[in-house]
Amino acid sequence: MKVVLQNVTKIFPSRNKKSKESVIAVDDFTFTVPDGKLVGLLGPSGCGKSTTLYMISGLQKVSGGKIFFDDDDVTDLAAEKRGVGLVFQNYALYPHMTVRQNILFPLQNLKGDDKLSKDEMLDRATTAARLVQIDELMDRKPSELSGGQQQRVAIARALVKMPRVLLLDEPLSNLDARLRLQTREEIRRIQRETGITTVFVTHDQEEAMSISDLIVVMKKGIIQQIGKPQDVYDDPVNLFVAKFLGTPPINVFEGRVANGTLYIGEDAVLDVGGVEDREVTVGVRPEGFVYDPAGSLVCKLTGIEVMGRDMSVVSEKDGKVVRSIINSDVTVDPTLAEVRYTLKPNKVFIFDKTTEERIRF
Ligand code: ATP
Repeated sequence: MKVVLQNVTKIFPSRNKKSKESVIAVDDFTFTVPDGKLVGLLGPSGCGKSTTLYMISGLQKVSGGKIFFDDDDVTDLAAEKRGVGLVFQNYALYPHMTVRQNILFPLQNLKGDDKLSKDEMLDRATTAARLVQIDELMDRKPSELSGGQQQRVAIARALVKMPRVLLLDEPLSNLDARLRLQTREEIRRIQRETGITTVFVTHDQEEAMSISDLIVVMKKGIIQQIGKPQDVYDDPVNLFVAKFLGTPPINVFEGRVANGTLYIGEDAVLDVGGVEDREVTVGVRPEGFVYDPAGSLVCKLTGIEVMGRDMSVVSEKDGKVVRSIINSDVTVDPTLAEVRYTLKPNKVFIFDKTTEERIRF
């Protein structure tokens, strides 16, 4: 089932009597979560990710716009009637109940036609527990589980009602680095196996990029860009998106275009024919540098970190740190005072200095 947001807006009124300023948490969002896909809502703290998720779930009302599940307008439908499964960052398990009881809980509250027999409930709970691989832990209490296992219980509890949409709000933030990695792969597997349309909220770009079919990059309640993770990485629409995606992050320089040539400092680094003469902000992805003793971009060498397959060459340009990723087959003499690079044109982006919008060349 697809989820469609049409001009969805959320305004929180001011709580402060002195200031009348309300908060526009979500400003005119229009996007579709395609059937059976996993969409990552990505952006820094406060950009409106959770609010968007809660509006899809029905826990929060929209201030404007409409939400459709397939062709059904669910904008005014109560949360419990929408058929969504929600998983929160803090798991929100009942501590006094066993894993089995926690997973069964949402089924025990079903009423009328939806009511299930005890056997049906147990069947569903077992299937959900198997899916997230906690079926051997059914008699334990949450305090007897690791963080990763608790989060799996929370996911099983969301799946047991066979939701039409699965909504995950920063589900990995309370896990340590290794478990985060493992659990995010698990979420991807579960999502693929069940084919449930899923929306996943995170501020961690790597997380969103690694598991999403599509990402929605947001800033201060405004959608910046929507696309496949690799497409957005390769073709950011503005400096914010370029900076937000990628580790190590994109290198940013002050630059200028003169007579069809892009300059960083005094170095003529790229042909950008067609762009008029102007000051620009230049972004270069770390993998966009080619170590080349005859290259035109000259940087002061400060260090080399070998990371197995690649090495990170750290240098300085006009007082700014530059991180490049170079294949470790290449030998860079660490005693050199300066390194020279040529730039891969498809890894260089230029932006308007004021609006920070991309200038294409
Ligand atoms: P985080 O990653 O920190 O959870 P987020 O991107 O999920 O952030 P939201 O929680 O959706 O952001 O909040 C968006 C904006 O709306 C913020 O400025 C926040 O302060 C504001 N906001 C959220 N909930 C309320 C509320 N109930 N009343 C007033 N303002 C709110």
